[in-house]
Amino acid sequence: MTHQKFQMFIDGNWRDAGDGGRFTSLNPANEEDWAEVPEATVQDVNDAVEAAHRAFTEGPWPRMKPAERGRYLRRIAECVRPLTEELGRLETIDTGKLLRETRWQAGNVANVYDFYSGLADKIHGYVPVSSPDDPFMFTMREPVGVVAGIVPWNSQLQLAAYKIAPALAAGNSIVIKASEHASCALLEFAKVFAEADLPPGVVNIVTGGGVPCGQTLTSHPLVNRITFTGGVDTARKVIPNTASNIARLSLELGGKSPVVVFDDTDLESATNGIVAGIFAASGQSCAAGSRLIVQDGVHDALIERLIEKAESIKIGDPLAEETQMGPLATQGQRDRIETLLEQSIAQGAELLTGGKRPAAFNKGYYFEPTIVRCEHQKLPVVETELFGPVLSVLRFKDEAEAIALANDSDFAFAGGIFSRDIARALRVARRIRSGRLWINTYRVTSAQVPFGGFKRSGYGREAGIDSINDYTELKSVFVETSGEPVADPFVMR
Ligand code: NAP
Repeated sequence: MTHQKFQMFIDGNWRDAGDGGRFTSLNPANEEDWAEVPEATVQDVNDAVEAAHRAFTEGPWPRMKPAERGRYLRRIAECVRPLTEELGRLETIDTGKLLRETRWQAGNVANVYDFYSGLADKIHGYVPVSSPDDPFMFTMREPVGVVAGIVPWNSQLQLAAYKIAPALAAGNSIVIKASEHASCALLEFAKVFAEADLPPGVVNIVTGGGVPCGQTLTSHPLVNRITFTGGVDTARKVIPNTASNIARLSLELGGKSPVVVFDDTDLESATNGIVAGIFAASGQSCAAGSRLIVQDGVHDALIERLIEKAESIKIGDPLAEETQMGPLATQGQRDRIETLLEQSIAQGAELLTGGKRPAAFNKGYYFEPTIVRCEHQKLPVVETELFGPVLSVLRFKDEAEAIALANDSDFAFAGGIFSRDIARALRVARRIRSGRLWINTYRVTSAQVPFGGFKRSGYGREAGIDSINDYTELKSVFVETSGEPVADPFVMR
């Protein structure tokens, strides 16, 4: 394919980096350099934040009627729908994620904008109950101001939409930093904002590394709210930045999600759910169900099916419709997985299938679907988020042990429960500490339902109705209605 060149979107204009700096994007399926992306300077990031600040303080966006903002969001959704194939292709070439999935996600981006379009004029405060002698009291919700959004390399379009759409619906302006490993689909997507005639500076997209781009953005004094999605180690670098700008922060971090399978499970259904949870997207999902916890009675039969299924997965070009698993996104990602797997095997984990680069490919960051049996949870492959197609397996005897194993993790982003006994599944769901749980399914999602984690998986929620309030400030107003003048404060009554 022809080499492509992308530009940043700042203040309604397309721009290269101020110093002309660029980085290249490698296609993970063939390691070819296919695109160039600007590497933002500190000044470029400052320009983007200042543009967003001007759009918020001087521009029409926060002053517009909320229903009018909703119409803009609807227009964005309409502009995206004809582009889903093209955006999906770009994201696939950028990240190695299957086209089948990136195309679907690009379509879902339109759904997210539609969803928040409908909410733009449904944000409200409240009037608390009071006595007729009390002052009249009410609360109102106002936009926060300038939002900084940081997205990781997986699912760049969709994750950015879950930040941009509610922020805009609530009347804010926003600067998004894409990952240096995957920026192209998001930069292409920015054309939609121009096409929808969004006022300049309301949305700005900058590209560049964590330092200086992400660091400058999250520590900027004009930023009022930060929504970060990425790994916990990076989050630990972002948190201190808010000590200076006191920006409100939400963190969508990683996971090490348990999938608990009881003896009475429909095996075919559980096998499909587990495979969807760990091998779809090559395991590069915050919600990946990477810790399988199986009851003794069904253990051997389930493992046999899983191995058979894993070994039949068609690995290949992520653009091809028949491919079931593509490559990992970066060389570094594959190296890290190999190291952690090797350490785990040295410490006693038993490799049941996979564990190496598939022989059929001498290019591309491919890695086989991998299953490892573990006797305990204190192994790197069980404790650490690998972000790859590696499933650890542990067994349990009873419900109490399953819950204890499921909760024995620093992370708590998602999880799955498979059982025909719905009362038991619900009982267990109430005891597993996690931001999202699936019962007898996995990986199903909707713009209507929030996601986010407990523990080291972060704080705050994205998607759903509640997320919009996270992009507002709550203001309280007291109004004296007695008709009496304010009494002299120095005269005691
Ligand atoms: P990452 O390395 O933490 O990077 C996330 C973002 O932070 C990237 O844009 C990165 O830029 C940027 N960044 C790096 N250093 C920074 C700094 N000092 N200040 C500000 N920003 C900085 O994560 P990743 O490897 O891209 O993504 C994988 C992680 O994201 C996994 O842990 C996954 O579970 C998590 N994730 C969570 C969710 C969720 O909803 N909870 C969704 C998807 C992914 P560069 O890439 O340019 O370095």
